[in-house]
Amino acid sequence: MNRRIIRPRTVAEATNTLAEVTAKGGRALVVGGGTIAVPQLTRREVDPSDIIDLGDLDIPLVRYDEDTVRLGPAASYQSLLDTPSAERRVPLLHMMAKGITGGIQIRTQGTIVGSLVCARPCSDAPAVLVAHAAQVTLSSVRGTRTMPAERFITGPERSDLCPDELVTELTFRSRPEATAHGYYKLKFAESSWPVVTCACCVLADGTVELTLGGVRGVPWKIRLPDGVANSPRRLRDGLEDHMSALPEDDFWEDIRADGAYRRRVAATVASRASRQAHARLPSAMERP
Ligand SMILES: Cc1cc2nc3c(=O)[nH]c(=O)nc-3n(C[C@H](O)[C@H](O)[C@H](O)COP(=O)(O)OP(=O)(O)OC[C@H]3O[C@@H](n4cnc5c(N)ncnc54)[C@H](O)[C@@H]3O)c2cc1C
Repeated sequence: MNRRIIRPRTVAEATNTLAEVTAKGGRALVVGGGTIAVPQLTRREVDPSDIIDLGDLDIPLVRYDEDTVRLGPAASYQSLLDTPSAERRVPLLHMMAKGITGGIQIRTQGTIVGSLVCARPCSDAPAVLVAHAAQVTLSSVRGTRTMPAERFITGPERSDLCPDELVTELTFRSRPEATAHGYYKLKFAESSWPVVTCACCVLADGTVELTLGGVRGVPWKIRLPDGVANSPRRLRDGLEDHMSALPEDDFWEDIRADGAYRRRVAATVASRASRQAHARLPSAMERP
């Protein structure tokens, strides 16, 4: 089959092509870094009529305004790590990007948007984007819409993306109330995919926001009051009680681990992320 490969320079060019392909009843495959899409093509799991490669899009990879960080569709993990203020402005994203396996090749090639669109429960990025309250901007010839990452992910490997739409931006507003962050992931080997992840954010009033990945089909946000959150042991015990009250089929399972295992380890992963975050608290807020 002869497939067209298009390398748009502008969003208008990309969305016009998507609209044209969709109107003709075709199916376009949008490619960011291609670390997931290209293997799917080679394995013939997808059979698009057209391929739209976003690699040449004329959109900055990472931009910093006064109180906002913006990631373009081609922003890779490495492009974020290469910007000096990322660690301060989007700390969880920075910690997550450092821990992506596959070496410099995957960190440079894989995009953060690509991981979000795939919405795989076991990927690092979706839960971290939810933890950072990222806003997702979608563009098509019909216009532009923006929604929280939490709403964009509608289920395991499902998102609210229409066939004629592109994700054109991820936006992060600074959160002055968030004082310390931690990120912990459980994986079975140095190079393996995550099994369970937890992004932790300690707020100025001591409240802890935990966002767990790989535990349920979508990122799972839990807020704990100061009294529970300031002791890793109480936090773990509290979460364990909470998890054991939920039915096993509420938990995600895949080739790496079943739901029972994920339920068993989630509280420990969360307490490690929380411990990391509390260790980074400014000294005036440090716990005894
Ligand atoms: C060796 C190896 C190690 C890895 N390690 C990890 C790891 O440690 N943690 C982890 O989470 N992941 C890991 N991954 C997975 C991969 O790196 C990420 O998921 C990556 O971020 C995917 O981005 P991409 O740009 O390559 O996506 P692509 O393959 O380009 O696209 C993925 C999907 O998103 C769609 N898409 C992409 N961009 C857009 C857009 N702008 N608008 C609309 N749709 C779009 C595509 O159509 C496709 O369906 C690993 C992969 C490999 C091969």
